[in-house]
Amino acid sequence: MNIHEYQAKELFRSYGVPVPEGHLASTAQQGREAAQEFGGTVVVKAQIHAGGRGKAGGVKVAATADQAEELAAGMLGRALVTHQTGPEGRIVRKVLVEKAQRIAREIYVSITLDRAKGCPVIMASPDGGMDIEEVAAKTPERILRQSVDPLYGLADFEARRIAAFLGFSGKSMHACARLLKNLFQIYQDKDASLAEINPLVVTEDGTLLALDAKLNFEDNALYRHSDIMELEDPAEEDSLEKQAKEHGLNYIRLEGNIGVMVNGAGLAMATMDLIKQAGGDPANFLDVGGGAGAEKIAAGFRIILSDPHVKAILINIFGGILRCDLLAEGVVKAARDTGVGVPIIIRLQGTNAEEGRRILAESGLRFTVAEHLSDAARLVAEVSEQ
Ligand code: ADP
Ligand code: MG
Repeated sequence: MNIHEYQAKELFRSYGVPVPEGHLASTAQQGREAAQEFGGTVVVKAQIHAGGRGKAGGVKVAATADQAEELAAGMLGRALVTHQTGPEGRIVRKVLVEKAQRIAREIYVSITLDRAKGCPVIMASPDGGMDIEEVAAKTPERILRQSVDPLYGLADFEARRIAAFLGFSGKSMHACARLLKNLFQIYQDKDASLAEINPLVVTEDGTLLALDAKLNFEDNALYRHSDIMELEDPAEEDSLEKQAKEHGLNYIRLEGNIGVMVNGAGLAMATMDLIKQAGGDPANFLDVGGGAGAEKIAAGFRIILSDPHVKAILINIFGGILRCDLLAEGVVKAARDTGVGVPIIIRLQGTNAEEGRRILAESGLRFTVAEHLSDAARLVAEVSEQ
């Protein structure tokens, strides 16, 4: 689960990770009031669940309260498109108005799980503010990776080692080490999957501040963090993904135009590879899982049908525990209820496959049944282009 910058900064504050003073505004008037309260120059920051806002016009400096109001009015209610949002962007519903900081230098710090080593890893670079992927590609020696033992937590000497790598010494080294330890504590206490500060800045008067704050949380651990669950912003969630979750279906939205329904995540990956090889582009994948019944299948199929980007659908089921006849019943039911305006290609194999094909054929609805998966992928790629 993802949260907003302003929410992450509140958590930071409560754990002793220093952040700039800021106020949340959901109207332009509130933006003006926040700026008035701070006096001086402020920064107006669009709150969406995506980064790259700075380059996309979602972080702007206002010298006066008038200007802050104007900037907030310009952002609120509009879609902001950044390189992380996809072409549709995300609607800005709130802005964070912060005291503008005089920045002496920008640093990068993050904590994630190192899956290969099976422990958290802290990544730090004195080259913050820019794309960390670019730093990693061009000057990998400018990034330090510090593995952390999850049982002992981040040790003082490890935190100081990172701080020294970032160019701190004396008192400021200790301030940086403390900040890193506090950040690690959030990561561990809240079962975060990512804690990132980009940029962590040193201001001209030598203060360390997290200017940006990003926290992602492990969905499977949310049940033990009701405080984090409350931070969920339903407006940021894809409504189709939400519906799928309610039905216990795994649904992932992608950028193409072919709806994909499969049983099993591995089969989903293989199916998408084949569609791509055939020149098609999946709009989503919906994994109905093992023991789905006709109702659940119908719900899944309706979700795929209600995505206006979908121009063709491929259903690829290998019947094991999930019986092909049940799947066919569910698909026919949903197609009758909802009405289908796009071509549907179905490939069924395994338990009761023949019975499933018979149900589809006798339904009177237009399904194309493919024998082999490669034929199915080729067919769906073809029709999606028409
Ligand atoms: P994003 O990562 O989405 O682009 P950031 O919060 O990192 O958004 O902001 C982008 C840039 O804007 C930062 O690198 C920093 O230079 C500047 N910035 C952000 N907040 C402030 C602030 N409070 N004062 C001064 N500059 C800021
Ligand atoms: Mg940033």
